[in-house]
Amino acid sequence: MTKIDDILSVAISLDIDPDANSAVRGRHDALSSPVESGKINVDACKMGLQKILALLNIYDIDATLFYEARTARMLVEDGIDLPRLSERHEIACHSLKHEDFLGKVSGMPMKKEAIEEAITKAKDILENIFERDIKGFRAPYTRINQAVVKTIEQAGFHYDSSETVAVDAEWTGNPFSLEMFNSRLLELALPSLPDTRGRRMSSYLWAIFEGRRVSGDYIDAVLRAKNIAKGGLFIFSLHPWHVYVDCRGNPFTAEQLQKNLENLETIFSQLKQMRDIQILRQDEYIENWLVSQVV
Ligand SMILES: [Zn+2]
Repeated sequence: MTKIDDILSVAISLDIDPDANSAVRGRHDALSSPVESGKINVDACKMGLQKILALLNIYDIDATLFYEARTARMLVEDGIDLPRLSERHEIACHSLKHEDFLGKVSGMPMKKEAIEEAITKAKDILENIFERDIKGFRAPYTRINQAVVKTIEQAGFHYDSSETVAVDAEWTGNPFSLEMFNSRLLELALPSLPDTRGRRMSSYLWAIFEGRRVSGDYIDAVLRAKNIAKGGLFIFSLHPWHVYVDCRGNPFTAEQLQKNLENLETIFSQLKQMRDIQILRQDEYIENWLVSQVV
């Protein structure tokens, strides 16, 4: 059996939220762009999610699905059998309506009670749809504060995955507790690192879909992380809608759509072929890590 310390773990995570969503001044929830329409669309999310889950099946990859509860409910109402489609994957929470908890764009930081209400309701909705325990949380815009962290801890989540850490010489890729928020909740942070030309990149794949990066940038990032810290977890993230529409909500050309799918497939296929790499769900990684701490 492979020991967790001998290999780099890689997780594929999806933030499943409305198409080209954006925070809006004067309201807590997010709308699809252009926000002037006052609407939420999930058409691109629906197509992207089905395509990505089909690709993950082909490459036999288990992923972590951070569902915004409102989007999950809309997809179910649209006739999508989400529990069946998501069966092999971890179900995690990405808020109720993509709230701007800290009020950075809305201009209205949310009070503790409102944060509690939104997160508890989101967890209930997801547990009802999927009939499973929800352990992971990722905040909209990956922005958390003490009230958010305390709420998810009290609501019974096992971990948060909203923070970002630099992949430098000290990077371990291990979970850490959110002491800066006065909490013992574990964090599975997203990696950020310079690319081969020294430009900082995140592990969100949006730059590929906008034609700004190629799959090789991401594969190279994993190889560098592997050289720094075996035993750690490198988390990829993507938004299903972004395969089909850009961040302003404009549909991609057929050519760009094809490129997006090919890039995604290249990443999945190359990760599967890499030596000393295991691809697993974030909840599985954290369980393995907790066991390794006891021994
Ligand atoms: Zn989101």
